Amino acid sequence: MKLDVLVVAAHPDDAEICVGGTILKLVRSGKRVGIVDLTRGEMGTRGSADDRAREVAAANAVMKISARHNLDLGDGRVEVTLAARERLAALMREHRPDVVIAHHTEDLHPDHATCGELARQAWYLAGLARLADPKATKPVKRPERLYHFMGHLPFDPTFVVDIGPVWEEKVELVRCYASQIEPQNEGDRGQHFLFGADILARMETRARTWGERIGTRYGEPLLHKGPLPCLDPLLGAL
Ligand SMILES: [Zn+2]
Repeated sequence: MKLDVLVVAAHPDDAEICVGGTILKLVRSGKRVGIVDLTRGEMGTRGSADDRAREVAAANAVMKISARHNLDLGDGRVEVTLAARERLAALMREHRPDVVIAHHTEDLHPDHATCGELARQAWYLAGLARLADPKATKPVKRPERLYHFMGHLPFDPTFVVDIGPVWEEKVELVRCYASQIEPQNEGDRGQHFLFGADILARMETRARTWGERIGTRYGEPLLHKGPLPCLDPLLGAL
């Protein structure tokens, strides 16, 4: 199936937390969006594999995305291997997205940073028809754009998506991952740096920070490595 946008994320819930608003906005405007998770998040100490699978299904229903895949590369063990990058490139050739959005190539979590690099390599290889079929004679179109979303480390974004109109829906979406965000006990409440109840508060702080930078209530920052063509010099629109 042809997709407009393919999001590549390391663990189930990364796509929703980091670019859930962008995904909701795209789908609500009629675009076809798919997600590829590289792992099942099985190293997390919260929630069973069944819990995680149910949560992903609930999140898919909220987003109304067109496809979701899991490459099951092993949580905490994601590596840029020939096999992994070819599997991801094959998905890009299958879905022919115009845009790929993946983790930034620098992040505290090695799976996130590796995901960004794996997506970058697969994005390039997606345009090499003979890699998939040595006898291919027709060129394959590489996705037009590769954007990176923000994880633990900040960067200077190329642009910020105004997600104000879908903010409440994004919060509902991330709440689908109850095993990851609900406090498990009193000591848990708001104490976790990377997990726990304060993930929603931190998500809001970040969204408000980036929204403020573009004069809106909430925003999600995206990075494109290198300059983008400007088709409208008056407004600077892409
Ligand atoms: Zn993650």
